[in-house]
Amino acid sequence: MAKKVSYQNFRFEEYIPEQKILDVVKNIATQIEKDLSGQKPLFIGVLNGSFRFLNDLFSHFTMDCEVEFIKLKSYESTESTGKITELIGLRDSLKDRVVVVVEDIIDTGLTMANVINDVLAMNPKEVKVATMFLKPEIYKGALMPDYVGMEVPPEFIIGYGLDIDGLGRNLNSVYKKIDSVPLELSKKKGMLNIVLFGPPGCGKGTQSAILKDKYDLVHISTGDVFRGLDPDSELAKLAKSYADKGNLVPDDITIKILQSEVKKYPNARGVIYDGFPRTSAQAEALDVFLKSKGGAVSCMLELEVEENELRTRLKGRAMGSGRPDDADPAVIQNRIDVYNTQTAPVAGFYKTQGKHKSINGIGSVEDVSERLFHNLEEVIA
Ligand code: 5GP
Repeated sequence: MAKKVSYQNFRFEEYIPEQKILDVVKNIATQIEKDLSGQKPLFIGVLNGSFRFLNDLFSHFTMDCEVEFIKLKSYESTESTGKITELIGLRDSLKDRVVVVVEDIIDTGLTMANVINDVLAMNPKEVKVATMFLKPEIYKGALMPDYVGMEVPPEFIIGYGLDIDGLGRNLNSVYKKIDSVPLELSKKKGMLNIVLFGPPGCGKGTQSAILKDKYDLVHISTGDVFRGLDPDSELAKLAKSYADKGNLVPDDITIKILQSEVKKYPNARGVIYDGFPRTSAQAEALDVFLKSKGGAVSCMLELEVEENELRTRLKGRAMGSGRPDDADPAVIQNRIDVYNTQTAPVAGFYKTQGKHKSINGIGSVEDVSERLFHNLEEVIA
């Protein structure tokens, strides 16, 4: 699992590890030294972000070389404003110097074009550009930089000198932003409570794990909770006696179990309820419980998969899961029947509340996830 960090209500995951960056920097330094040795180049670092790249480049140089820093800013937060502000700190004599302008990242190239204009106005002998990162899909410049550490996709990254509102520069690896919506936004709307719904085998477990990771949610599967109980406990034996036959564990037990699970995560950004509520009584109990905490169900996402496909999937799953309720065709059929008679009406409960969203559950895991993201972002935004 990739390392994660949070800044300014966005989460980022590790994208380029430190060692990879240091190897790339060493290669660029070798190339620059090969090209410019004997010319006493002047390196002009564009602050703030370039300080780490330039520092690491310098640690490899054995040639005579000098360094200056200039300052300007075109980024306010996570999107380029395109505005170029003042350029400060450029020393006045660049005449006949070989200059290497050093950037941490080139995005549109507007910042660099501005710097180059100012540098050229000072009559240097030659100007080269070195950047640690380049976003080729966004870059609008006519000429490519002379030295590029790595090309990166058009995503927002931090670390190794790159910041979000001044933070994150001290990270040694580079991290990319994974939230399209700041966490803050969903907090304003209260905790997210997502009911992921659908017949056995529709992909709830797989998709819950993906949603949990992407939106930083807690995943509560009542089925997993029952299966995870101490097998010798009375509760486990009772739950197993129902589940093994494909029947539902009685509401009062399931509701209690669910409530005690939710209470374990008082600071959760949100919860995905997988396999709960399975009856209308459970749906009502969930409403009452969430209301007592000042919350409500945000939406029900129903994965629609037709019965034959479900049977095939469950048979396939039985080989890996070792779940007795997946293995026996009679139990599978009973689970589907119980779903159709007792559970499917729960969708109606949320339809009445205007919270139900139907999602096509057929297709690759990624395709189904995309459909879920799309629906969920309408709820969050
Ligand atoms: P440009 O003028 O090329 O569009 O933007 C260059 C400046 O934007 C960089 O010097 C950097 O300050 C900022 N920038 C562009 N992309 C990113 C990014 O992915 N992460 C961070 N932290 N800053 C970026």
